[in-house]
Amino acid sequence: MSSDRSVMWFRRDLRLADNPALLAAAEAEAVLPLFVLDPALWGPAGPSRRAYLAASLRSLDASLRSRRTRLSVLEGDPVEQVVAAAREVGASRVHVSADFGPYGSQRDDAVAEALAEHDVELVRTGSPYAVPPGSVRKGDDTPYAVFTPFSRAWAEVGWPDPAPAPSGLSGLELEHPVDLPEVEVPEGLRLPEAGERAAAARWEAYAADHLADYADARDRPDLDATSKMSVHLKWGEIHPRTMLAELGRAAGKGRSTYRSELAWREFYADVLHHRPDTAREYLRAEYARMEYDRADDALEQWQEGRTGFPIVDAGMRQLRGAGWMHNRVRMIVASFLVKDLHIEWQHGARHFLHWLVDGDLASNNHGWQWTAGSGTDASPFFRVFNPTSQGRKFDPRGEYVRRWVPELRDLPDGEDPHDPSPEARRDVGYPEPMVDHKAERAEALRRWESIRR
Ligand SMILES: Cc1cc2nc3c(=O)[nH]c(=O)nc-3n(C[C@H](O)[C@H](O)[C@H](O)COP(=O)(O)OP(=O)(O)OC[C@H]3O[C@@H](n4cnc5c(N)ncnc54)[C@H](O)[C@@H]3O)c2cc1C
Repeated sequence: MSSDRSVMWFRRDLRLADNPALLAAAEAEAVLPLFVLDPALWGPAGPSRRAYLAASLRSLDASLRSRRTRLSVLEGDPVEQVVAAAREVGASRVHVSADFGPYGSQRDDAVAEALAEHDVELVRTGSPYAVPPGSVRKGDDTPYAVFTPFSRAWAEVGWPDPAPAPSGLSGLELEHPVDLPEVEVPEGLRLPEAGERAAAARWEAYAADHLADYADARDRPDLDATSKMSVHLKWGEIHPRTMLAELGRAAGKGRSTYRSELAWREFYADVLHHRPDTAREYLRAEYARMEYDRADDALEQWQEGRTGFPIVDAGMRQLRGAGWMHNRVRMIVASFLVKDLHIEWQHGARHFLHWLVDGDLASNNHGWQWTAGSGTDASPFFRVFNPTSQGRKFDPRGEYVRRWVPELRDLPDGEDPHDPSPEARRDVGYPEPMVDHKAERAEALRRWESIRR
């Protein structure tokens, strides 16, 4: 069989445009577009990510069909499935964009080894990041541990312009692929539209209408002022390079702040690349010695949005209802779990990863560690968010909490939606605060002092 055949193994890069791995694959005479449903990832993905991924694969398949080919899907261990697919079509190369996560990088090494036994090469081109993790280093060749100097050096390393979609694709198909997965969206959950086209449309509309106000409005969960691009970035329906090119077209505070947020995503991927253990373990080891409470009923109350703190409950219900939560609220609910309930961040991170459609190991677990004080923040633990004053400040009219906590819509005029009176709570069926924030803040600081000594 001809050896000028390749496989394009899609993973977190579910798009045709600005996809250098696909361009590399398309240099062969014929390409097999492949996706492998890996039980090791599909199992823990949670209902919202599974449903979204299924929709995104359908969209990718539709784009490929418009180019007279299709997506072949296999199910099982990629070490076996990718080798089987490459052998079936007689490919000499399997193209991927590199994965830098702890699981993905080991999986790819194992697949590369298995392919090599059949004289097939695994070719890694590009990554889900503008600058691949591991490439930004200090003068002494060590990685950055703090965001601001990282982001400066990251910009200096730079990135190429976006690449076009391949002009022609001569597609191959497998004889016996499995069907594209069908996943029902769980009741009560509303997911955004998936796919490359939806991602491009969302970004274009956001850049035109909201980017200029981003710096001022991004902390306001009531305004719907952030881009919601995290979901599309998570699945690689758009590459950050495409977004950075747009951001670079003009000056302005909104654009520079947005660029800095994209740099956070790259920073956390870099930190996790250098310290894969921090997906589970404390980045600052001393925090493992701190005293924590058992994750019991209190964890459940938090998960279900029944803490009696409106902004916390709104966030936790938004997570279940939309598979997404506003960044400011992610910080508030995370701080509440760790510093008011004294529960270890890993319990919260796991719950987030179960429900978030944008659930990403690096951004999630380091977002959690940052808020818990054990991560990359320079002035960490003593920043204890007061959920009531945070609510009043960032949701001044209480619109966000009323949107997600329907009980609060019935509060009589004059009641503070961020701290209703005991009578009003009783009347509308909303719980009393489950803890005294002031007392728990003092308790958190006491526990923190004990590990500082
Ligand atoms: C506890 C906690 C958990 C988080 N878990 C995740 C997660 O699983 N996946 C995820 O993508 N983000 C996570 N974040 C970061 C952030 O909350 C989301 O990226 C953001 O809310 C996504 O909404 P958006 O696209 O509208 O953001 P925008 O404000 O429009 O930001 C634009 C893009 O910048 C990136 N970005 C923004 N803020 C951050 C940040 N703090 N860290 C890393 N990247 C950022 C995202 O890619 C985002 O899409 C977490 C933050 C915290 C505090």
